[in-house]
Amino acid sequence: MARDPRYDILFEPVRIGPVTARNRFYQVPHCNGMGWTQPQALAELRGVKAEGGWAVVSTEEVEIHPTGDCEPFHEGRLWSDADVPALALMAEAVHAHNSLAAVEIMHHGASSANWSSREMPLAPSHRPIIYYAPVQARRMDKSDIADFRRWHREAALRAKKADFDVIYVYASHDLSLPMHFLQARKNDRIDEYGGNFENRVRLLREVLEDTREAVGDRCAVALRFAVDEMIGADGITSDGEGRDVVERLAELPDLWDVNVSTWSNDSATSRFQKEGYQEDFTRWVKSVTTKPVVGVGRYTSPDRMVSLVKSGVLDFIGAARPSIADPFLPKKIEEGRFDEIRECIGCNMCVSSDYTNTNLRCTQNPTMGEEWRRGWHPERIAPKGSDHTVLVVGAGPAGLEAALAAGRRGYEVHLAEAGTELGGRVSREARLPGLSEWGRVRDWRVTQLSVMPNVHIYRDSPLTAEDVLAFGAGHVAIATGAEWRRDGVGRDHGAPIPGFDDPRVFTPDDLMNGKRPEGPVVVFDDDHYYMGGVLAELCRSWGLEVTLVTPANIPSAWTVNTLEQGHIAKRLARQGIAVVTSATVTSFGTDSVEILDYLPGTTRRLKAGGIVTVTARLPREGLYEELAAAPEKLEEAGISTLRRIGDVYAPSTIQAATYWGHRFARELDAEVVAAEDLPRELPQAAPLRRHWA
Ligand code: ADP
Ligand code: SF4
Repeated sequence: MARDPRYDILFEPVRIGPVTARNRFYQVPHCNGMGWTQPQALAELRGVKAEGGWAVVSTEEVEIHPTGDCEPFHEGRLWSDADVPALALMAEAVHAHNSLAAVEIMHHGASSANWSSREMPLAPSHRPIIYYAPVQARRMDKSDIADFRRWHREAALRAKKADFDVIYVYASHDLSLPMHFLQARKNDRIDEYGGNFENRVRLLREVLEDTREAVGDRCAVALRFAVDEMIGADGITSDGEGRDVVERLAELPDLWDVNVSTWSNDSATSRFQKEGYQEDFTRWVKSVTTKPVVGVGRYTSPDRMVSLVKSGVLDFIGAARPSIADPFLPKKIEEGRFDEIRECIGCNMCVSSDYTNTNLRCTQNPTMGEEWRRGWHPERIAPKGSDHTVLVVGAGPAGLEAALAAGRRGYEVHLAEAGTELGGRVSREARLPGLSEWGRVRDWRVTQLSVMPNVHIYRDSPLTAEDVLAFGAGHVAIATGAEWRRDGVGRDHGAPIPGFDDPRVFTPDDLMNGKRPEGPVVVFDDDHYYMGGVLAELCRSWGLEVTLVTPANIPSAWTVNTLEQGHIAKRLARQGIAVVTSATVTSFGTDSVEILDYLPGTTRRLKAGGIVTVTARLPREGLYEELAAAPEKLEEAGISTLRRIGDVYAPSTIQAATYWGHRFARELDAEVVAAEDLPRELPQAAPLRRHWA
């Protein structure tokens, strides 16, 4: 389809210093958990973004020196010339699609412990590093500052050698040396690099000048800057020194990439911030500089993008997460395929890959991070390998994705759902406080399926084993999901908790089905992701007195990995929800629960009219087991594949459900590569050396 002229403005080329971006779609730097350990996988991933129409595709943070070594996190590296070929691979992949490759070179300063290199971290003044670790950064003397400038310059030259087009100076997310020098609270130097604003901005200005002088003939120099740290007067603010920085350095970089600090604010989840929330902090930047400005806001709406450009807020639509959820977002806008845009749901499973140092993954985009290892492309999939029909039982995220991917392969697909509503857990969870955007997992898939003539959807169709056998499908996917257990068994309790057979014990499913406990309510969270905290909020919204009890030492402990834990703890406190950590529920009876406080090792009773137990789930596996128990009947019915996918296979995240649904469809009638045989990037660059006799 031809481009709708309303969106022409998004496809105008924009000059960035000596280079030109072919349109206004800009993938800003984002972490991925792979970094220097998987250069081929990363090159493939970034190349797919360029293919999808992002005119600028950036790396993640790329360390310039071992004194700013971020291990155990896997970021990029340009410590020496030996690192050039790995990054050159990515630049080449991006250039293959006519896009510009950008590299975010940086020094972590007092934000890395240097666990791997064992060098001492560097800072403007003597300070502990910003993470809780028994590590202090040492105050840099003049020769350290000269060294840092030289390392940055050399890294810029290496980046140019690797054929990058845009080279960053990084002062954002509270994560880099120039940022730390700017921050008055961290810089108590009395020389020309500390004290007044002019002195604190000096290093940033010098590094910009150095970079321009080193590579500016051919490469654009971008400045990524957090205009507001969102900590009030203690930090940089967009109406204070944040604005002063932009005014002072306005024309020095070729491009301003502006955001807010820290990462948990910049990449806030949809539970806490909606599309475009950074605009309040950044919309003035363009009035201060003539250079192009890129900003982020989890933008997925083409109309919003047009209005941002037309109203002079941004020149480039920056994206990290929307480009992960849909690497082909720009192309889909260009081709008028708006319904096909797979919108990010703002869950930050992608961020958790960085926190767990594993391949980037995404709830919405099951191919993300598997482009190289499995050869999965977000838009292309092999045609079907047989004329078998496919029956998918259950239309949660796993079943919907399986049906969609199999349908795209050309199979005749039948999707049967017991309920009237499609979406399974996603539909129910999207009705919980703050999670409405999660419904996009369902909406996008249902929209795609609705126009596929080869996919047939049956609602209100709870299938039995006889139904499945009678159906006559060659491939069957059982995607019947899981249910929350009510007996209290989970991580903390291997056996049921006494009293949990009481009708006043509620599971998350009960609450999502509309049941309400009497107060006061104790939410026992032994799940540690979002559900316990969200249900505490829900009960509180009903006016009940709520106490959340968790064996972890912080509420919603795993959400540290999705950057939400601080936000959740704050919200619980501000809603008046009591939190008891390092404790477990040991019994429930009459009008109270007994809890064991692990630290003193003592028990006490909390008044409770009801318990919400959030511990673990059990697969709804009856249908699968009945079918699997009778292979002769499967054969007789012509069923060649019977597989469990999603939560019925093993209860997990929504991200795992879409991944397994997708994988089921990819593997139909195809050679299945065992996990141990998948390509791996082994450290084989140098010949193996021996130091022993
Ligand atoms: P997942 O996350 O693995 O996709 P969900 O729990 O979200 O799992 O979805 C499972 C879906 O399967 C639910 O919508 C449920 O109604 C449906 N379902 C369960 N058993 C059957 C069955 N026997 N026939 C059809 N649908 C079923
Ligand atoms: Fe968006 Fe979630 Fe995918 Fe990240 S994992 S890109 S937040 S949908």
